[in-house]
Amino acid sequence: MGELAAALAHELTQPIAAARNNAQAALNFLAKSPPDLAEVREALACVVGDVDRAGDIINRARDHIKKTRPRKDRFDLNAAIGEAVGLARGSIIKNGVSVRTRLTDGLLPVSGDHVQLQQVLLNLIVNAVEAMASVEAGARELLISTAQNQADSVLVAVRDTGPGIDPGHVERVFEAFYTTKSSGTGMGLSICRSIIANHGGRLWAEANEPRGAVFQFTLPGR
Ligand code: ADP
Repeated sequence: MGELAAALAHELTQPIAAARNNAQAALNFLAKSPPDLAEVREALACVVGDVDRAGDIINRARDHIKKTRPRKDRFDLNAAIGEAVGLARGSIIKNGVSVRTRLTDGLLPVSGDHVQLQQVLLNLIVNAVEAMASVEAGARELLISTAQNQADSVLVAVRDTGPGIDPGHVERVFEAFYTTKSSGTGMGLSICRSIIANHGGRLWAEANEPRGAVFQFTLPGR
C-alpha cells in the first residue's frame, strides 16, 4: 500500500502542476485589458483535460486495488507520442528544449492501457527534460523515435543530450526510491518498467551518442 501511495503521489504531480499552470495562465489572460477571452477559453480547456487525466489515474489505481484486469485499448503509439509531447509542453518550453520526432509510418498498433502507456511516455520525456536543465541552453535536444522492431514488435526511443547516466547506474535508475533530485520520489522509472513488463515489453537505458541518455522500450504490436 505504501508503494501504491508513493506511485499515486508521483503520477498525480504532473497533471496537478499542469492544471495549476494553465489556471494561472487563464488568470493572466483575464487580467489583460481587454481580457483575451480566446486564450482564457483555451487555458481553461487545458485545465479540464489535466483534471480529467488526474481522475483517470485515480480510477486506474482503484481498478488496480480491485484487481480488475488492465484495460486493453488498441491504439497508435505515434499519436500517443504526439499527445505526451503536448502534455509536457509547459516544461519543454520553460527549459528551452527543442523536440524532434522521427516516427515510422505504418507502425503496428499496440494493445494496452492507454493511460498507463501515456504515463510511461510522459515520465521518460519529463525525466529527459529535467536532466537537460543542467546542461547549457542551446544544446538541449529531445529526439523521440519509433520503429518496427522485429516482425511483431515496436520500439520507442527517447533520446536526450543531458549529462547521461553513470554506466554503473543504468540499472539502479529503475530501482524504486532511487533518485538524484531534491524533490524526486524515485518511483517514476520503477513504475514505467513494471507497466511495460505487464504489457509484454521491455524498458532499458543506455548512453546516447555523442552524449546524454536514451531510454528505449519495446511493445508487442498487433
Ligand atoms: P525521479 O524522477 O523522481 O528521480 P525516476 O525513477 O523517474 O525518479 O528517476 C530516477 C533517477 O534516474 C533520477 O533521479 C535521475 O538520477 C535518473 N534519470 C532518469 N532519467 C534520466 C535521464 N534522461 N538522464 C539522466 N539521468 C536520468
